[in-house]
Amino acid sequence: MPRIQRLPQLLVDQIAAGEVIERPANIIKELVENSIDAGSSRIRIETSGGGRDLVHVVDDGCGISADDLPLAIESHATSKIIQVEDLDSIGTMGFRGEALASIGAVSHLSVRSRTAEDDAASLLRVVGGDANPVEPAAGAPGTSVSVEHLFFNTPGRRKFLKTDRAENGRIAETVRSIAMAHPSIGFTLVTDGRTVLELSPTSQPSRRVIDILGKEFQEQLIEVSFDAPSEGIPGGPSVWGLLGTPAIARGNWRNTRFYLNGRLIQDASLQHALKESYRGLVEPGRCPTAALFLELDPRQVDVNVHPTKIQVRFRDPQLMHRVVRRVAAKALDQRDLVAPMPLNQPSYGHRPDYGSGSGTTRSIPTPTSTTASPGIEYATLAEQVGPAVVAPIDPEQSIPMARKASRVLQVHRKYLVVEDEQGMLLIDQHALHERILFEKLKQRVEESDMDIQRMLVPAAVQTDQAGLEVLDQLQPVLQRLGIEVSPIGPDTLGVHCFPVLLLERKVEPGPFVESMLQSFASGIGLGEEAVLSEVLDMMACKAAIKAGDSLTDREIAELLQQRELVERSSRCPHGRPTTLRIGIDELDKRFERR
Ligand code: ADP
Ligand code: MG
Repeated sequence: MPRIQRLPQLLVDQIAAGEVIERPANIIKELVENSIDAGSSRIRIETSGGGRDLVHVVDDGCGISADDLPLAIESHATSKIIQVEDLDSIGTMGFRGEALASIGAVSHLSVRSRTAEDDAASLLRVVGGDANPVEPAAGAPGTSVSVEHLFFNTPGRRKFLKTDRAENGRIAETVRSIAMAHPSIGFTLVTDGRTVLELSPTSQPSRRVIDILGKEFQEQLIEVSFDAPSEGIPGGPSVWGLLGTPAIARGNWRNTRFYLNGRLIQDASLQHALKESYRGLVEPGRCPTAALFLELDPRQVDVNVHPTKIQVRFRDPQLMHRVVRRVAAKALDQRDLVAPMPLNQPSYGHRPDYGSGSGTTRSIPTPTSTTASPGIEYATLAEQVGPAVVAPIDPEQSIPMARKASRVLQVHRKYLVVEDEQGMLLIDQHALHERILFEKLKQRVEESDMDIQRMLVPAAVQTDQAGLEVLDQLQPVLQRLGIEVSPIGPDTLGVHCFPVLLLERKVEPGPFVESMLQSFASGIGLGEEAVLSEVLDMMACKAAIKAGDSLTDREIAELLQQRELVERSSRCPHGRPTTLRIGIDELDKRFERR
């Protein structure tokens, strides 16, 4: 064994740098956070060569005095905390006192700074951890930090850097994410001489979010705010933010941002909560657009679990999950999410991936209303429209919010065309019915109110060992649904009980159970709620009116009535639209009436 030796300070700093400084974007995060902590009102960031050659951050904050400058670049030297108790109530972005030392250890660093009291600036240069003496220099109040030749002395690290383009992408992403939480600070990002981001200060947090996401998102964002403690949830967060409608969900998490006390965090549980709220409104692979700002008593969270502070540990993660889920679900339920269908644009079905911020110019159509869609007065549906179906309806069934006369047309035994106040609705009869049944079944499960029929003769299902194992895992969910299945022979299962609602809709117990076992054959991951939801989906799909079914007047009337009563009726449980709207304005335009 070689002898044990103390590592030289430079090596210690280089190792520490490895944890925090992996790439130029990390440097920008640290420097910009320092500028924010210094109370700056404007921050300018300039880079070249993907940040390898130069990162330059200039602010107009409080500055560092000449005497303090040598300490600023030493590790474990900070002005932000002095005692261990401070860790429980961190109000600044930084506190580890390590960033400048780490950066200085792996680059050519120079810090030029001037406080309000100083007549001139002072300058400190560090090359690979070696600090020169502080020298007087010219400069305005504030701090200007430049980092050149990144990783010049740790070539291994340099090799891991990606193309300039990729690094520039991360840099811009970092600046956007930080800027979103600091609307009162102006940000400028210049990449290789080109201004790529220019955010002027604003007192309106929503303005800043929209400036970053892009103006075309404005109409598709729903503002939420919720204060858990004053809603009787002590220890809970207060939440403010903007949530995107399902139409602007995208294929990755890049436009889903969570902030805790002003700092961007990554938290799988919060992402999950959000996804749950959008379940059935967006397709499973899509991620909701969101900027959610959580404020929490610092004692309810530990931010000191990760050197980059991107991960945190909540004292009560379930509570956080619940609150986020509730806030989002409520916002979505209150909004008319019927997808507008402008005739001259690709349908939302093509799902264009709206890029973030500048670069994309595709505009998002303005939704015609933010309130619930108006009802239809069934009592006046009696007017006949050609040979198609119309509903003479029992006036008792007409719903209170009904306002306008309307006619219904079934087209190709697949779609319904209905008038509403804003234009016309096109409804996919299967998708809508599927959503209605899904909600009905779900409600009955939640209220343990499922009508069950016991079979005189159990329906038989052939299976094998794998099927039996799947069945075992599904049992808790099946119980809640009132489906009783048990082996009645070596490779035969018997279905003994089955929900009445499905039997009424002519869903056969045997084939249903068989196809359910098959669809879970490749594994059941997920939690019980997700599995339940999936099985409810299958039930709703099997039981729903099919495309190709011709419908009676009464069936159509019922379907439309249910549509008004059911939550999330704008999308089927898989997240596809049930209803599209062509606005009357759009029609006028198409017919060149104006
Ligand atoms: P930390 O931010 O964790 O304290 P840093 O290494 O990032 O550690 O910075 C060390 C110290 O240098 C800070 O505590 C602060 O006093 C000072 N400092 C760094 N950057 C700036 C800045 N832009 N303006 C004013 N002071 C700064
Ligand atoms: Mg810092």
